[in-house]
Amino acid sequence: MSLGKLANCSRCDALFVQAVRDICQKCYQEVEQEYERCARYLRKRENRGSNIHQVSEATGVSIKQITKFIKEGRISVAGNPNLGYPCESCGFIIRTGNLCESCIKGLKHEITQQLEVEERLKQDGGVDMAAAVYRRKENVDE
Ligand SMILES: [Zn+2]
Ligand SMILES: [Zn+2]
Repeated sequence: MSLGKLANCSRCDALFVQAVRDICQKCYQEVEQEYERCARYLRKRENRGSNIHQVSEATGVSIKQITKFIKEGRISVAGNPNLGYPCESCGFIIRTGNLCESCIKGLKHEITQQLEVEERLKQDGGVDMAAAVYRRKENVDE
């Protein structure tokens, strides 16, 4: 990846000069503020048992963004026993990986179909973590 290329912010779609992040400076600041709200909420003892929906409602931060925080390791599921995020395929709440166990099982049976799903996601232009993982394995040298 070359530095300083123009890209669309993956969050607000604005054009910006991409360096290390895939989001623009404005979104970056917003995301940091959202993180602060989530972290502050979860720091309270009475909120430790919250699930992702409750955190989202209380903080106004989207489930998608909270999922990102968890996957980035910024919000710890270990310290919050009921906290998880939706499986990317079926929405079942999971605490590790991108897919729930039953979807992983299904996936193994449907390796060929997965290629079609990947194609479709590319066409949709959606940023999908599961697809991104597959893609990362393929094009290491972009
Ligand atoms: Zn942005
Ligand atoms: Zn699932």
